[in-house]
Amino acid sequence: MRTALFPGSFDPFTIGHYEVLESALKIFDKVIVAVGYNSAKKGFFAPQTRVEIIKQATAHLPNVEVCSYSGLTIDACRNLGASVIVRGLRTTADFEMESVIAQANTKLAPEISTVFLPACGEYSFVSSTIVRDVLIHKGDVSQFLPKGVQIEKFYTGE
Ligand code: ADP
Repeated sequence: MRTALFPGSFDPFTIGHYEVLESALKIFDKVIVAVGYNSAKKGFFAPQTRVEIIKQATAHLPNVEVCSYSGLTIDACRNLGASVIVRGLRTTADFEMESVIAQANTKLAPEISTVFLPACGEYSFVSSTIVRDVLIHKGDVSQFLPKGVQIEKFYTGE
């Protein structure tokens, strides 16, 4: 049974993240979506809220787990029994950043592999930043979020 970790800030989880998750589920038996947070950095949504949003978005998917972690991604993989890290690639800039991180992770944990999945879906342009901006300015974010996510439950605009 091959378990992959899909780590990210997911602040919040978007329809673009969901497309990456769907591709990962075609390859791996189980995918753990892991909200990485740094207690020194204040996010837009609290880590527990980000987890709740992802749970809403993935409630119908049997082979998905959702959790949060702080610290190194390779330690989260080891603790959760994941042998693969999945990251989505949107642009060449993503690749440049991600390949350096993947090399560092391979040095730290040679037993864990990184797999990049291209953002080739319809929503590869969507980012958490866009969603936050639209939310703050009271625009309609529903088309940028996975089906089933009721963001009003988590964001009141105050
Ligand atoms: P981080 O802050 O760790 O980069 P993000 O939440 O921004 O976390 O993104 C998590 C992962 O999802 C990253 O690998 C990122 O490249 C990927 N990703 C983000 N948005 C999209 C999208 N629209 N299409 C495909 N991949 C995406």
